[in-house]
Amino acid sequence: MNPDVEKILFTEEEINLRIDQLGRQISEDYRSLVNEKDPLVIIGTLRGAVIFFADIVRKIDLPMEFDFVSMSSYRNSTISSGEVEIRKDIDLKLEGRHVLIIEDIIDSGRSMQVLKNRLATENPASMKICALLDKPSRRVTDVTVDYCGYEVPDEFIVGYGLDYAQRYRNLPYVGILKREIYS
Ligand code: IMP
Ligand code: MG
Repeated sequence: MNPDVEKILFTEEEINLRIDQLGRQISEDYRSLVNEKDPLVIIGTLRGAVIFFADIVRKIDLPMEFDFVSMSSYRNSTISSGEVEIRKDIDLKLEGRHVLIIEDIIDSGRSMQVLKNRLATENPASMKICALLDKPSRRVTDVTVDYCGYEVPDEFIVGYGLDYAQRYRNLPYVGILKREIYS
């Protein structure tokens, strides 16, 4: 285990099993809604969700197209600045499409609120959120998660795509970062 990690919450094996389940559920739910002519649009959030994105799309057995957005809020600290901006917007057209957002973790919900509002202006047929992790105790918006991997306590989480100051993204598990690393 990485010495900066206090505790592993979910191992690589556990995450793989959970992603299998989520992928199967999503495949079933969208089966009758999307097809080769009208594929699902899967939107990943850079950079935290890339590992989760790469793993879950391979467990969703449906025609799909990929797109990515990049949002800023954290700026190398463990506390969100509260201001969220979209730094890289989507390229696909969403009018009348079924859209599934893939996110690493929903904390305050501010980033997801901003993203949902932006995507809604394109009039998608539907829009749902799939997040690997959810910290509901920290929510300051009414954002809810449609497909959630795990709920996590109010701790700073790293690994499996999630960073602290751009580090630890490559850890194959999800863990709690030691407080002495960031305080
Ligand atoms: P929110 O806007 O407060 O919901 O935070 C959204 C973004 O902050 C997430 O997509 C993550 O990229 C990042 N974030 C929130 N909590 C954590 C954490 O515990 N570890 C690492 N990144 C986090
Ligand atoms: Mg994120």
